[in-house]
Amino acid sequence: MKLPYAEPYKIKMVEAIKRATKEQRLQWIKDANYNLFNLTSDKVFIDLLTDSGTGAMSDAQWAEMMIGDESYAGSSSFLKLKSTVQRITGFKYFLPTHQGRAAENVLFSALVKAGDVVPGNSHFDTTKGHIEFRQAKAIDCTIDEAFDTSNLHPFKGNVDLNKLETVFKTHPKENIPFCIVTITCNSSGGQPVSIENIKAVSALCKRYDITLIFDSARFAENAYFIKKREVGFQDKTIKEIAKEFFSYGDGMTMSSKKDGLVNMGGFIALNDEETYKKATTFNIMFEGFITYGGMNGRDMGALAVGLDEATEFDYLESRVEQVAYLGQKLVDFDVPVQQPFGGHAIFLDANKFVPTIPREEYRAQALAIELYIVGGIRGVEIGTILADRDPVTRENRYPDLELVRLAIPRRVYSYNHMDYIAVALKNIFDTRNEAKHGYNIVEEAPIMRHFTVKLEKI
Ligand SMILES: *Cc1c(COP(=O)(O)O)cnc(C)c1O
Repeated sequence: MKLPYAEPYKIKMVEAIKRATKEQRLQWIKDANYNLFNLTSDKVFIDLLTDSGTGAMSDAQWAEMMIGDESYAGSSSFLKLKSTVQRITGFKYFLPTHQGRAAENVLFSALVKAGDVVPGNSHFDTTKGHIEFRQAKAIDCTIDEAFDTSNLHPFKGNVDLNKLETVFKTHPKENIPFCIVTITCNSSGGQPVSIENIKAVSALCKRYDITLIFDSARFAENAYFIKKREVGFQDKTIKEIAKEFFSYGDGMTMSSKKDGLVNMGGFIALNDEETYKKATTFNIMFEGFITYGGMNGRDMGALAVGLDEATEFDYLESRVEQVAYLGQKLVDFDVPVQQPFGGHAIFLDANKFVPTIPREEYRAQALAIELYIVGGIRGVEIGTILADRDPVTRENRYPDLELVRLAIPRRVYSYNHMDYIAVALKNIFDTRNEAKHGYNIVEEAPIMRHFTVKLEKI
């Protein structure tokens, strides 16, 4: 008999999570105005709100915390992190920041000006925010296949080269500070970008003399997908693959809260000395001196170890395949989910799951609330509430997709938790036709309403 899969780690410390009754949760979610962001964590059994900063550190990372060097300048923890980043990414220059958006703030302060355009593949919210804040524009050049939840394309994060070249042709070079490729592409569902595509984007950027930057929050998961799916990479290590794709670019921003396997942190890595020098000034202004940039010495040490652990095959297999295990269970139960499964999350397709709830009544939010009530599981709506209102007409903007994201924290939950989530969803799916009504908005903020919106049940 073939031996079944088992995780390549054992547990040294546990954190209790509280179970509650359905009646208690009905009351709690009502008290929270049907906004899952308003729930305190003790009222959640399995928290799938995000995989950002929610992972479990290893014993080796905790050990590194104890020998953190808190010197203001030139600490040994900084030097450890710097040499790890250089070894794994191949980039020459390195600046620590307190998280990913801080890396964007620093780098974009050096590179982006009003009137610029920044093409890329489905820019992440904070990336887009930092571009638009500077009166520049983010142009989405993702392949069309990315927007069909049942299309099985293996690299749905890929950049459409024709769309990208059109941007290069229709804007003066001075107005394109860089092209940004997000690996894996968070906003299109944690979907990877192939090396073939990265190489082609790099060649196109070189032809038009445009800088290529990677938004690298989940670069290790991207490398894992390349190893599993792209011809010619089966025998390469994750570290070899990552080094290869980084070699096609000029720099990167990183949210270490994802594939850095730490709870807080970020960085910038670059090849160009001029850009590094410019970014250094902003780093000192916004983040801190260049040898800590908003991070504790101990946290830089833990990040150095985390980057090495996150780029090992065994860890990545346990991580990505656990997400896929949940996805496959749901598919077996006929629950509609985005496919192929993303690296960090499973996305429920609410348009197919609860078509009986009118879109004006926020069907994806209704599904996320039901999952909380039935199982104490907290996911997040990626649908009409998140899409906000049109700034001019103040009408709701209805996106093509109404999704509920179930983001899986790294090394935190077991296969039993995955089974529990799948059955909770199956039970909701079996009674889906009884769901006729959703929610009304009672109160909302003018922008970013999803964090504070108050709802009432219809
Ligand atoms: C999380 C994330 C960011 C922002 O990082 P923070 O650490 O949350 O500030 C940027 N880009 C991508 C793709 C991300 O997933």
